[in-house]
Amino acid sequence: MFVHSARPNLAVERVAAILEAEWGISGSLVDVGGDRDQNLVVTTAAGTSYLLKIGQPDETHGVLDMQLAALRHAAHQDPGLGIPPVIPKCNGEYLHALPADAGGRWLLRVFGYVAGKPIGTGPRPPALLREIGSTMARLDRALAGFFHPDAGHDLLWDIRQIPALRPCALDIVDGGQRDRILRILDEFTETVLPRLGGLRSQVIHADATFENILMAGDPPAITGVIDFGDVMHGPLVQELAVAMADTTSGLDMPWQAACEVAAGFDERLPLEGDEPALLWDLARARLALNVSVLASRAVHRAEGAGSMESDMIAYQDQFDAFDAVGRNRAFRELRRTLRLPEPLTVGESDKETETARLVERRDERLMPGLALFYPEAPFHAVRGEGMWLFDADGTPHLDCYNNVPHVGHCHPHVSNAVARQTRALNTNTRYVYDSVLEYADRLAERCPGELSSVMFVNSGSEANDLAWRMACAWTGQGGALVTAGAYHGITEAIAALSPYDAGREFHYPHVARIAPPGGAPALVPGGNDSEAGEYGADIDRAIAELAAAGYGPAATMIDSTLASDGILDAPAGWLSTLFARVRAAGGLCIADEVQAGFGRLGTEWGFEALGAIPDIVTLGKPAANGYPLGAVITTPTIMKAFAERTDFFSTFGGNPVACNAGLAVLDVLDRDGLRAAAAEVGGYLKERLSALGTRHEAIGEVRGRGLFLGVELVTDRGSREPAPEATAGVALAMRRAGVLVGIEGPHANVLKIRPPLVCERAHADLLVDALDRALGSG
Ligand code: PMP
Repeated sequence: MFVHSARPNLAVERVAAILEAEWGISGSLVDVGGDRDQNLVVTTAAGTSYLLKIGQPDETHGVLDMQLAALRHAAHQDPGLGIPPVIPKCNGEYLHALPADAGGRWLLRVFGYVAGKPIGTGPRPPALLREIGSTMARLDRALAGFFHPDAGHDLLWDIRQIPALRPCALDIVDGGQRDRILRILDEFTETVLPRLGGLRSQVIHADATFENILMAGDPPAITGVIDFGDVMHGPLVQELAVAMADTTSGLDMPWQAACEVAAGFDERLPLEGDEPALLWDLARARLALNVSVLASRAVHRAEGAGSMESDMIAYQDQFDAFDAVGRNRAFRELRRTLRLPEPLTVGESDKETETARLVERRDERLMPGLALFYPEAPFHAVRGEGMWLFDADGTPHLDCYNNVPHVGHCHPHVSNAVARQTRALNTNTRYVYDSVLEYADRLAERCPGELSSVMFVNSGSEANDLAWRMACAWTGQGGALVTAGAYHGITEAIAALSPYDAGREFHYPHVARIAPPGGAPALVPGGNDSEAGEYGADIDRAIAELAAAGYGPAATMIDSTLASDGILDAPAGWLSTLFARVRAAGGLCIADEVQAGFGRLGTEWGFEALGAIPDIVTLGKPAANGYPLGAVITTPTIMKAFAERTDFFSTFGGNPVACNAGLAVLDVLDRDGLRAAAAEVGGYLKERLSALGTRHEAIGEVRGRGLFLGVELVTDRGSREPAPEATAGVALAMRRAGVLVGIEGPHANVLKIRPPLVCERAHADLLVDALDRALGSG
């Protein structure tokens, strides 16, 4: 019944008399029709216009009261929105009840006018479409705090009423179209409707049609939103779905236009969770509903189809256009327009084909030969959460490799810090703002001694480059001492200090390589496990080598994990011996903490674990959990001396977003005690890995501290002959079993285990079990 009731039809003279008596407004009245209401435009002698609406007798007082209250609430919250003012009667009330001819009563209310004309079905440039979305989002923000007990009423045009309205579709005359729409309504009821209950909901306008959104000017701009007759409590995304369906008909590519509407909405009120994925289904269902209800009205209404005919054709065309795009393509287009992250499912195509396609595109477009892990089974990462990385079809993989997501993949505290700050401000350090100073303070507090002066850059390489420049400037010398397998970064100066892959070709006269401590026999004169003192002679040799080439040492740069040297255990006293000899030769000591910093080794800094304090500390990778951020920390004296000689500046270094991310990482590290956890879980993991050595001859040694461990694989324990192929095989077998580890060392025979610090014992167990199985089979 509530579908087809006829609208009221009061005589204009009668309405005019009531208007004058109750509202004190007199003027000429014109009946302008309407869907359910009788609408009359009133124009006073002074030229002011009003709209008088007369509702059907079955409309409840509560629902109308709710609509008017919503209007007033939104207008009050956002006066610039262009919402029609509700004009009170002389007695201050907003509704006037009039006994209806056939029993019950009609309810009258009067609105002021909003400038502009309906956006209609003419040209709608993308900017206008986005403004439609943005206006509806703005309206929803204004309505967010609104409550009324009648907001939950049943409403004809509510998409959630589709099961009740299914019979309307039976009145669609064209049999093919009827069956299609019935199928879609049923599918919607079965698969989409149950998901709506979990979405955020509030009071929404729910009727953003091309008739209800007003515009003016050239180029056109939105001036207001009218017709609050469908206001209801429902899923927020329904607001957008209606706007996408009902403001884009008649355009060339209506779904693309609808995506623009979504983009405007999303910019003001970001979509969440499942909302984007449901938009196409919701918008299509709205159109199916429009077609069904109009078809049914055309059949059952006494006055016939009338002007509804053209609307029905327009909705049908629009429905056909959306339907033709299809769910997958529709979502792809929406994703591109909104810049949504890659979804978990790869759609119809199979996971491996999709990954292979990406690898092909990567080879074509990016630097040829750019390293790819697991070339036999490339990993297509789509989502991350804590210790887990998910591939394209959502299969979880335990991430024991990545140290950039230091406090866990996509940690919500860090993600929120980044997202919120990008919405508030991101600029450079030539202005004054708080977060860069708070972060610098927090870093300085964590450093020993005089290490308290901070400069920010964007990566570990940049931090090392800056540290190197500082050392050269401070010492007036140009020589460097680095370990034989060192890696420190990509700038030209730092690549020279990174002999890790240079083999015999390496020749920079200003760079001397020292034997890494405790390394594989081939690299260390005197073999493994030497006492620190044995390295003294090697260091002296390196300093003499520099002197012979005409260089005094500006610095030694040491990665405190000795990662690219093979994740080595330096004997006690090694680092302090090195630092003492370099200082005696006039050089500075740089601790490259890009890998070791922020608690990974169970101590705040790796150099603390190695028992020596540097003059300069460099930070990178884990600092901001994936947001680019590097830092150099040194003594105020060294910093000042550098500042006097240069006018160094980094545009992005220390920007507000990076610093907020860095601060959030420190918050999590401290509040969750992750440094202590790294020591504890790392100790447990190392024990379990070492125990595997009793059963697997391939394990030559287990090295490292905290959550930076290396498992060296050899062909024979006696000779310690490296087993790089077996190492690659084990890493691949583990990847196939859902556990990600890396490969490290000059002989590519060390499994690199370096998980986020949220790694727990249970994760460690999964890793060890996977390694156990991989070794067994390999
Ligand atoms: N130092 C060390 C010890 C590193 O391991 C790395 C990166 N692997 C860097 C510096 C360079 O960092 P980035 O790649 O962020 O420039």
